[in-house]
Amino acid sequence: MALSQNQEKVNQKATEILVKVEQLKIHFPIFQGFIIQKQIAAIKAVDNVSFNIHKGETLGLVGESGCGKSTTGRAILQLQEITGGKVYFQDQDLTQLSPAEMRDRRLQMQMIFQDPYTSLNPRLTVGQIISEPLKVHNLTSQHNPTERVSELLELVGLNPQFAQRYPHEFSGGQRQRIAIARALVVNPDFIVCDEPIAALDVSIQAQIVNLLQDLQQELNLTYLFIAHDLSVVRHISDRIAVMYLGKIVEMSDRNALYKNPLHPYTQALLSAIPLPDPDREKSRSRLILQGDVPSPLNPPSGCNFQTRCPYAFEACQIEPELRQVSENHFVACHLIDRESSDSP
Ligand code: SF4
Repeated sequence: MALSQNQEKVNQKATEILVKVEQLKIHFPIFQGFIIQKQIAAIKAVDNVSFNIHKGETLGLVGESGCGKSTTGRAILQLQEITGGKVYFQDQDLTQLSPAEMRDRRLQMQMIFQDPYTSLNPRLTVGQIISEPLKVHNLTSQHNPTERVSELLELVGLNPQFAQRYPHEFSGGQRQRIAIARALVVNPDFIVCDEPIAALDVSIQAQIVNLLQDLQQELNLTYLFIAHDLSVVRHISDRIAVMYLGKIVEMSDRNALYKNPLHPYTQALLSAIPLPDPDREKSRSRLILQGDVPSPLNPPSGCNFQTRCPYAFEACQIEPELRQVSENHFVACHLIDRESSDSP
């Protein structure tokens, strides 16, 4: 019985779509002129990005700084104006909601920010910070703020008596626990974790990742976990999407991505992770990228990775589509066609 219930849960996790992003575009216009302003260009921060997030899973979104991953996370919560595309939450198109309707919807969708030093108001006590969303959403009659704050502090591994203290009295890891408690106070279903461990000491990072995993199990949460490093998302993600210059270049189940990365950019990110075994570390071949990430104001035509790709060839003048290469594995690279045509 327990086994079949577990199986049911796994199947549900694999099939029920909670968040659906369709051809999301976020372009920032560049204007010229003082009195009469004219748009002369646009920075394509996010360009035609599509993915689903299933209920109860963690989708890792990875890429270098400026690739558009945080902008994508903010756009899902409608905290960022979008240029085109759709965002669905439980089959409802969020882009069509009024600000008041979106405010109600946001009860189910929360965000944890990168820097716990700036995301907590230094003038408020921890109790006021955590209970603030209850006041904003008029939920104080449904939840006693004092009791809810104590319950959440305990849930994130902090002493409930800390409610009277101020953020400056805590370490970075404790502050991030407070930020997590604040995100949980309205009982959300979905949380965008925007590089939640990037500003923390390495020794604390694993604790916060473990806490997020435990909370996910206990509260049946769904995460979009944003990071700039593939080693960080490995332990928490079920699936991983890799972004480069505003586009998803590879998306796959975690194991398939680490065992068989197909896009040269994913291969380069993986080869930048040091191995714990010094012998293997010394003997392995590395793919080291040359040059900087091009400006999103003037990205290369065709494949936007071609200025740094060691395998670029003629076909790369045409933009590759994100195509399915096996179950749950998608990649945008012309090498896939070349390799399949070369094979006997
Ligand atoms: Fe490299 Fe071409 Fe593949 Fe782009 S399409 S990643 S340039 S091989």
